[in-house]
Amino acid sequence: MNRQLRLAKRPVGEPTPDDFEITEEDTPAPGDDEVLVKVLQISLDPAMRGWMSDAPSYLPPVGLGDVMRAGTSGVVVESNSDRFGAGDHVVGTLGVQEQAVVVDKALTKVDTDMAPLATFLGGLGMPGLTGYFGLTEVGDLREGDTVVISGAAGAVGSVGGQVAKAKGAGLVVGIAGGPEKCQWLVDDLGFDAAIDYKSEKVGRRLHELCPDGINVYFDNVGGDILDAALANLAWGARVVICGAISQYNAEGGMQGPRNYMMLLVRRARMQGFLVFDYVKQYGDALREMAQWRAEGKLKTREEIVAGSIEDFQPTLMKLFRGENTGKLVLEIAAT
Ligand code: NDP
Repeated sequence: MNRQLRLAKRPVGEPTPDDFEITEEDTPAPGDDEVLVKVLQISLDPAMRGWMSDAPSYLPPVGLGDVMRAGTSGVVVESNSDRFGAGDHVVGTLGVQEQAVVVDKALTKVDTDMAPLATFLGGLGMPGLTGYFGLTEVGDLREGDTVVISGAAGAVGSVGGQVAKAKGAGLVVGIAGGPEKCQWLVDDLGFDAAIDYKSEKVGRRLHELCPDGINVYFDNVGGDILDAALANLAWGARVVICGAISQYNAEGGMQGPRNYMMLLVRRARMQGFLVFDYVKQYGDALREMAQWRAEGKLKTREEIVAGSIEDFQPTLMKLFRGENTGKLVLEIAAT
């Protein structure tokens, strides 16, 4: 038997337990080129909130009654594919369920001797790649740049800041909620400075820390923090729109940037992107990041919550409450 978590209702504001239902059904036998995977870990991503909504987006919404879309890691139980054997560890978008039968090309094999399984959902997975390409490609990072990253202690931001350092940024400043996260950024990850947006005035601190202005602002949160960064741009700055988590549960419309005329004043540009745009370059980026990780230049951290698919909604909410440091993962079976 397989158990799944399905979207029962489209959330209004924050998702609640009532928006989901648990179902059970038999697992079919894998067909040609198909693989049966036991799901071990479920990736919690802020983007899930958007996938629950039927507003136009870059992917179709999760249908009402459908298994909730999610990145996962797992282990192959049965294989009719020559690419995978029983016992292989894999990652893929298998959804919030305990098992899945999928075609082999939907899976990527990962080497758990190289890093713990959850790292392939975080620093050496989609969020890490987002930090990498957001900085290097969209941010057009240059030697000596002053880089500021919001959501800096999360899965994307924590990698982004270290990529910036490894690629020669002059000054890297992270913005995060709370003293522990700020201390982690500076003491463990090598950020030059951190701003605790919950207790400090972000605009004033950016002005003090970046007197020549920000060359690359990597935005994960939107709202007032984006405005504070726009007010402190350097000439020709690049503003990378990666996400806007402060706005995802907003009822009655998102708060857009108020200070956008600073793009004109500073001859800056603001560009959104999706990590999937760089899929052809994933292999090279992951090799470079794995090398940095092995050399201790890239530290990855996962926050693993042990539970079951019933714990999906409360675990997801940890992202919106800032209760994760690094990559948030729900582990539903022992790895
Ligand atoms: P995180 O691991 O960063 O978790 C979310 C963090 O956001 C929380 O820990 C919290 O940290 C912070 N946060 C929550 N609410 C607020 C708020 N109101 N104001 C400021 N900060 C808040 O998530 P990810 O690293 O997975 O994702 C980061 C961003 O990147 C998201 O916006 C996501 O949608 C985006 N993304 C975009 C991709 C793309 O291809 N464009 C791909 C992947 C992710 P704190 O304690 O510091 O508040």
